Amino acid sequence: MKSSDKSALSKSIVAMAIIVLFAATICPQQAQDLPNDIKWVTQSVEYAALCVQTYRAGWWAVKEAAQQQTEDWAVVLDVDETVLDNSQYAVERAAVDSGYTEQSWAEWVFRKEATLIPGAKALIDSVRTLGPKAHVAYITNRKFEHEQATIENLQKYGLFKEDDIMLTRKGPEDTKEKRRQCVREGTGRCEKHGPLKIIALFGDNIHDFFPVYSMTRARVYREETLPADPHWGREYFMLPNPTYGSWERDYQ
Ligand SMILES: [Mg+2]
Repeated sequence: MKSSDKSALSKSIVAMAIIVLFAATICPQQAQDLPNDIKWVTQSVEYAALCVQTYRAGWWAVKEAAQQQTEDWAVVLDVDETVLDNSQYAVERAAVDSGYTEQSWAEWVFRKEATLIPGAKALIDSVRTLGPKAHVAYITNRKFEHEQATIENLQKYGLFKEDDIMLTRKGPEDTKEKRRQCVREGTGRCEKHGPLKIIALFGDNIHDFFPVYSMTRARVYREETLPADPHWGREYFMLPNPTYGSWERDYQ
């Protein structure tokens, strides 16, 4: 081997060693740098177990309640962090040292790359086995202009069927409570099914169950009413979401 070749070879070895060292030291560092909430959701067994546990308990309750229904009924689910997992969006935003923005969120929604919250598909697929009275309704604060992309993202996993109801938010006044009323009364966008009795609700935010519009009310409910509220574990099923929520904004 010529001395010039030897020199080139040793330079290559040094360069490769630097790359390996960089990968070994920098990459784990990046993983560790994720905020604890995102790390917990994306990496912990505890988070996934909580989701599966919630959905499994939900299924037992739905199966039992369905036997007592004489009219058509629905299971109502929120979408984000209830059925669709947007943690990749959170990871990407953290990587650029930023959080939610309307534009970045819209870009993420149109990519239709959200994955599934553990346990969600098992519950929804099982609900569909309970006969023609059973219906699946999604009530989400995703905007109306994001509705088609949301449906297509759910369809990737077989989670949106022709008979299902999708109620995105049509404006600031279009609260989730109003849309639950729409399901119960069978009016407006819910007309195709007529009135449906909601036998279970799944969500990651208190507004997925009922409205709580101030920190004071939230505190009173949490301390005085919640411990004995019989809905939890029977009709209401809460998924964990430590990354964002109306709790950040005093429930406004
Ligand atoms: Mg949500």
